Amino acid sequence: MATMTITEAKHIIDVVATALIGTGHRYHPVSALKGYDILQISNALKLRIAGEFLYLTGRDDFHEQFKYCVQLCGTCFYCVTSTFVPDNQVDEILADRVLDMFHNEKVGELETEESFGNYCAFVGANDPAYWRKIYARIGLEYTSTSPKGNDLAFLVDLTPPDSTPSWQLRCCKCGFVRDAKQAGHIRIGGWSWLRYVLGRCPRCRRLWFHAFERPQETDTTGRP
Ligand SMILES: [Zn+2]
Repeated sequence: MATMTITEAKHIIDVVATALIGTGHRYHPVSALKGYDILQISNALKLRIAGEFLYLTGRDDFHEQFKYCVQLCGTCFYCVTSTFVPDNQVDEILADRVLDMFHNEKVGELETEESFGNYCAFVGANDPAYWRKIYARIGLEYTSTSPKGNDLAFLVDLTPPDSTPSWQLRCCKCGFVRDAKQAGHIRIGGWSWLRYVLGRCPRCRRLWFHAFERPQETDTTGRP
């Protein structure tokens, strides 16, 4: 039985985020996933959902924020299954989607992010065996390297520099730029992957990555 530490899960999510951003091609090359397979990516996203559940529990905006988190993970997983192709086919319209469920029947059997989020709520943040149950649900072995009890294992990697007003978010789809503070980037702590944030663009309405940067770093191509 496979297992996964929180550190590994974070690393996988960083690899996926990097792989999904800005290649300039129609599709993404599968080599950018550095050998991680679709099940490992699904597991990493679910550990992240479970961590977000603990982090958000008790907050006034819990329902809204947790729903958002689950949607983002679902979107991310869908993007992974539908946009990675063999490296030599990245510009071919009919490229072979190597990570979709036709290539791995287990993908079609995976629990949806929404259902998994409901399971987190069913267990509850106060359960002293929270992580043990989460690991069992995902099908990962619970070991001495797994998070203990109901620890906040996924605590924020990148602290938002709130004291610096000049940071901005740039939509990686349409290039729309907005002030990070006005965008309510409080969630950046929960959803920063490297220096990209998943969110909905007020202009193009796409749920996609936004580059978190200082104004002078803006790349005018609209692509990171
Ligand atoms: Zn946009």
